[in-house]
Amino acid sequence: MKAVVYEGNGKLTLTERPEPKLKEAADAIIRVTLTTICSSDIHIKHGAVPRAVPGTILGHEFVGVVEQTGEAVKKFHPGDRVAVNVETFCGECFFCERGYVNNCTDPQGGWAMGCRIDGGQAEYVRVPFADNGLTAIPDGVSDEAALFTGDLLSTGYWGASLAEIRPGDTAAVIGAGPTGLCCMMCARLYQPGRIIAIDVDDSRLLLAKRQGLADVTLNPLRDDVEKKVRRLTEGRGADAVLEAAGGRDTFQMAWRIARPNAVAAIIAMYEEPQTLPLPDMYGKNLIFKTGGVDASHCGRIMELIAEGKLDARCLITHRTTLEHIMEAYEVFENKREHVVKYAVKVG
Ligand SMILES: [Zn+2]
Ligand SMILES: [Zn+2]
Repeated sequence: MKAVVYEGNGKLTLTERPEPKLKEAADAIIRVTLTTICSSDIHIKHGAVPRAVPGTILGHEFVGVVEQTGEAVKKFHPGDRVAVNVETFCGECFFCERGYVNNCTDPQGGWAMGCRIDGGQAEYVRVPFADNGLTAIPDGVSDEAALFTGDLLSTGYWGASLAEIRPGDTAAVIGAGPTGLCCMMCARLYQPGRIIAIDVDDSRLLLAKRQGLADVTLNPLRDDVEKKVRRLTEGRGADAVLEAAGGRDTFQMAWRIARPNAVAAIIAMYEEPQTLPLPDMYGKNLIFKTGGVDASHCGRIMELIAEGKLDARCLITHRTTLEHIMEAYEVFENKREHVVKYAVKVG
């Protein structure tokens, strides 16, 4: 079968690999129907994900059809359409019991697929702990509508919950790329009074505005963001900040635009260390929450998709097929053609 493999040293190739087989009783084999490229794949390529293992098939955001199940898999059967979770998790360890599935202590737990074990930029993939990591796609929901359930929408859903947004609040989202847009979408579920989108790319801000995800857009290349956020909030600053950009200055921006006692949810994945200038922020009494998504609410997210309350299809600006995925990587990595997300058809 065809698969995208991380070769190490900044190199990815589309190559032939044997089809995966069931290894453990809780495994399922999925025939991938639609997959995508995530900025985390680019981070892996750049060597910014130390735990990524060269030789691994990339891809942690995809949907497909169950092909085969191990004898311990109870909830799914061959032929079921499923969205696949970015994280594989045992469901039984200390962290899983508390919903912190990103830190599942099983050797195959956490973000493993497309990083340490073979992922879904391929025709077939083995999914460990299938009962926990798969989400059934209802009949009325298309592959494109379900594609982002396991990673981007999970991240947005998790980020919005971290930020503790209350009705009427001003929520500022830094970054209007795929993650930021999903953060806005999920922040909306908490009925904030205003969502401010901040990005240096006007086409992304326009998308946020047009889709009704943001009420106000600011571009740091043009706007004094801190000043404008203050002006919008009677001088206070944003009640909740979601930093989803991971740029050179965006961490600093996140705490600067936050009002005293706000939550700054740091969802972005940085390629460089950031400094926390405690003397400068003394007295602001901020709460920082950091990390990688605990994707443990996919069932709820799929319900919201089916009800039309979450719709991330607007992120799909480009479509291609697995045969042409390396060209898609080129466009995606270099942010050409105003790309937000690719939908990559498989088979
Ligand atoms: Zn991802
Ligand atoms: Zn676990």
